Amino acid sequence: MKNKKAQKELPPHPMEALLRSERLPHIWCAGCGIGTVFGSVIAAVQKSGFDPDKTAVVSGIGCTARMAGYIRLDSFHTTHGRAIAFATGLKLARPEIKVLVISGDGDLLAIGGNHFIHAARRNIDITVICVNNLNYGMTGGQLAPSTPFGAKTTSSVSGCPEEPFNFCYLASACGSVYVARWTTLHTRRITNSITEAMQKRGFSFVEILTPCPTSFGRRNKIGTALDTLKFYHERSVILNDIDPKDAPVDFGSKIVVGKFVDTERPTFLDNYHFVCKNEIGDWPDFNGTAMPESQATK
Ligand code: SF4
Repeated sequence: MKNKKAQKELPPHPMEALLRSERLPHIWCAGCGIGTVFGSVIAAVQKSGFDPDKTAVVSGIGCTARMAGYIRLDSFHTTHGRAIAFATGLKLARPEIKVLVISGDGDLLAIGGNHFIHAARRNIDITVICVNNLNYGMTGGQLAPSTPFGAKTTSSVSGCPEEPFNFCYLASACGSVYVARWTTLHTRRITNSITEAMQKRGFSFVEILTPCPTSFGRRNKIGTALDTLKFYHERSVILNDIDPKDAPVDFGSKIVVGKFVDTERPTFLDNYHFVCKNEIGDWPDFNGTAMPESQATK
């Protein structure tokens, strides 16, 4: 009785406004890094200054995707791999809404890989946050396109025979206007990067390497989640402004983190309105050398 009275007198948590605490406890395992990222997401939404009534979160399926259910914003927990497709539709239908996509590496870059590359190419004005735990955590610890070569998963019991993607390099090569990578140790930098990414116009991408002690750590004898964080601490090297192709996630030597890309180019809607106004003229111009210019060169 005394404890209940004491609890009632506690001031509200600073993130309470955006946290659906009535849905707690959450589903994440002890030591999982997703909660850390979730805290940074909420802090970034608050810091960004966007109206919460005009901010939406879209997720796919997986452990990370459950964030959509715990945040007090308009949120959409969609189908596996299709978060970016849903987010694209939402942004085109309601351009005034700030759209955040938050999902895992398997969801965004394997099943959803095609949506990812084309949304980046089109420069759809959305922010994509990828929590990279190196495997499919929720579905049982299978190999993903992020799984390091040789790592053991439930679908690669002798070791992963594939080379993983460098997600930041992929995002950059496809045209993303903002690209950054951090680990869950870099909480303030994650918050700052998500805030900056939200303030960009265009396809912005933030990758966060996150311990998954239950599905990935256990099979690879990494130890506890704290051991993974110590490993990240020892191996992480911050190199801002370098080409992400030179920023590998190499568990054998170094994990390069930082803000790699921060640039401008017209969004899909900029170019769409431009061509709809019929300002592009005839195409192709067989009689001359001029090719239509996108809004980028105007
Ligand atoms: Fe986190 Fe892995 Fe557990 Fe999923 S399975 S909640 S990613 S520790």
